[in-house]
Amino acid sequence: MKQWVHVILQVFIFLLVYYLLDLKSAAVVTSAHFIPTIDFLMLKLGVLGGMHRRLFHNIFAAGIASLLYYQLFGPLIGLLGFLNMIFHFALDLTGRGIAIFYPLSEYRLRL
Ligand SMILES: [Zn+2]
Repeated sequence: MKQWVHVILQVFIFLLVYYLLDLKSAAVVTSAHFIPTIDFLMLKLGVLGGMHRRLFHNIFAAGIASLLYYQLFGPLIGLLGFLNMIFHFALDLTGRGIAIFYPLSEYRLRL
């Protein structure tokens, strides 16, 4: 999925969480969606370019990031952050798909 689609959808997620909770929670939950984007930025910077949709687009990276969010911001934000990363993965299932179990497997989940 194109990056601008991620951004537009996250504007809606941000506004929804801001409406339901508060500004800080909205910012943190929205930031979780862009954690997998780190490997896209690495590709653009020429650092570990082959890791796009692998290094941060897997269930283990999402789990670790969610635990970090849980510890820093509490269980609700940890859960919402995890769901927002899964939402990111769902958007990336087109094309090459994502290596959902990387580094254990190179299997690519895709539509
Ligand atoms: Zn992605």
